Amino acid sequence: MTVKVTLIPGDGIGPEVSAATQKVIMASQAPLEWEVVEAGEACIAKYGTPLPEQVLETIRRNKVAIKGPITTPVGKGFRSVNVSLRQQLQLFANVRHLRNLPNVPSKYQDVDIVVVRENTEDLYAGIEHNVGNQAAESIKVITREASERIGRYAFELARREGRKRVTIVHKANIMKLSDGLFLESVRNVARDFSDIECEDRIVDALCMNLVQTPEQFDVLVLPNLYGDIVSDLVAGLVGGLGVAPGANIGEMGAVFEAVHGSAPQIAGQNIANPLAMILSGVEMLKYLGFAKEAQRVEKGVYHVLTHREYITPDLGGTSGTQEMALAIIESMEA
Ligand code: NAD
Repeated sequence: MTVKVTLIPGDGIGPEVSAATQKVIMASQAPLEWEVVEAGEACIAKYGTPLPEQVLETIRRNKVAIKGPITTPVGKGFRSVNVSLRQQLQLFANVRHLRNLPNVPSKYQDVDIVVVRENTEDLYAGIEHNVGNQAAESIKVITREASERIGRYAFELARREGRKRVTIVHKANIMKLSDGLFLESVRNVARDFSDIECEDRIVDALCMNLVQTPEQFDVLVLPNLYGDIVSDLVAGLVGGLGVAPGANIGEMGAVFEAVHGSAPQIAGQNIANPLAMILSGVEMLKYLGFAKEAQRVEKGVYHVLTHREYITPDLGGTSGTQEMALAIIESMEA
């Protein structure tokens, strides 16, 4: 039986990396059918919104989507489509599997970390106001329910993937109530997972530990703001945004996406690295239970990374985006 997935190509380099990803994922022989829909600035003229209701409807129906990056105007214009998607579909967990890949330049080796970020609250709840014209306040919201939910997700992931340790990240020495509640809630959840080691770190100390000895970490679970910052930091440890896959997961389903943005300066040149989106596709295959097909794509990716002529310029190679995808497909079939 085929599984229908929603594909949002995005804008900037989005359509190029999406086309490359679609080809590679199809070549894995996973029985997928694609429903392609548009979101972003181009939709405003047609539908009056960058995130038309029919996009949300197809994701609700198919329960799984993969999207290319979408440009967000800075300081004005429409709200981020990415943030709206997460909120409207209640995708409460942002998950990034970040590990060193062969021949991808990095100062570190042996990094293999899963960053699990709470996606719905904290300072991202968007509750802020001006106090006169000399001050502004943002309210940080942390609830027991959301903290336990993300904690449980992180421990279940650790158990499912055979990982050994979950590190709870917080600043509860200063924000005793809000971060204190996050820490207490996740620690409570940890009691149900005696097979997984649980520890906690203060976020600033964690950042130092990550740049000194990242190989000591396994699964990190963090509130929204620290998760946003630390997940980019860890992406940097393994070679940057061009190779970092991501997923937003909720009870209704999941939206997979590369961590990088729409890179407008290189759009349309066929030089964008498609790997982050292809690896997001690999995560999607695993989520759907297509482990064999996911492995096939990983095999192709690992093989191609050892050949300069098959990789894009950001990785030190000479290949174009679509040519890299074709090389991955050939290596999968070899
Ligand atoms: P960016 O990730 O687009 O670019 C940062 C740098 O990385 C640039 O030098 C770019 O050329 C390079 N880069 C990024 N992806 C690459 C790839 N696949 N291959 C080769 N090089 C790559 O970040 P930005 O410039 O801060 O953001 C551009 C736009 O993307 C903004 O409008 C931002 O809001 C949006 N954005 C969208 C998402 C998303 O849709 N998930 C995520 C982040 C940023």
